Amino acid sequence: MDSIQARLQQVQEQIRNAAEQAGRQGDKIELLAVSKTRPVPDIEAAMAAGQVAFGENYLQDALSKIEALRDSSAQWHFIGRIQSNKTRPIAENFDWVHSLDSIKHAQRLNDQRPEQLTALNICLQVNIDQQASKGGLTPEQLPEAIDKIQAMPRLKLRGLMVIPAPATELEAQRQPFSQLRQLRDNLATPELPLETLSMGMSGDLTAAIMEGATIVRIGTAIFGPRPPMNRTSNNA
Ligand SMILES: *Cc1c(COP(=O)(O)O)cnc(C)c1O
Repeated sequence: MDSIQARLQQVQEQIRNAAEQAGRQGDKIELLAVSKTRPVPDIEAAMAAGQVAFGENYLQDALSKIEALRDSSAQWHFIGRIQSNKTRPIAENFDWVHSLDSIKHAQRLNDQRPEQLTALNICLQVNIDQQASKGGLTPEQLPEAIDKIQAMPRLKLRGLMVIPAPATELEAQRQPFSQLRQLRDNLATPELPLETLSMGMSGDLTAAIMEGATIVRIGTAIFGPRPPMNRTSNNA
């Protein structure tokens, strides 16, 4: 099996190729390494290969790793479901939250963000294809959420995030990403450019980059297949 370092290089190359195909600059696309369920040594291996940003879904699992890597330069992005009673550790330990989908949670994160830290970077998750099983605001709910969050000084609204239903064909994969980009284009203002489009995973990163992704969230292609989760011991 390839090493994490070799896989990371392959993913970076895939990003460069997709960017070139799309007439975009590859260095404008940030690679978020999704390290959920992965042990600390895997994260250290990725860091040794130059990776800085890591995405985590399961809070308890994430907190122990953040603690273990406290003195490193790792940057932590929360990308999982948010529970109301678990917002404080998110506000205290993460640099970004990609999966915000409620004004109530926004208010809690704002109130709980420690003063000595910079504002928490936020992407609003959008449920663009009405999947019952997925979190996310509907496009109709976005304007109000954006207004409210803009008034929260400890949050910095950076853009939108989507997890579309899986599709295999490139054209089908592009569609929800294109919709997210258009939604962003319609909502953006000079004061609030919403420059971040967090979209694309291992199976659809090329499609996402063609449609303007600025952060791709890649797990399997870097770390290999994930072991099955024991959901009772984690806050999924
Ligand atoms: C797990 C996960 C990813 C990474 O998925 P892969 O298919 O392993 O690349 C990206 N985003 C979110 C929100 C995830 O939960």
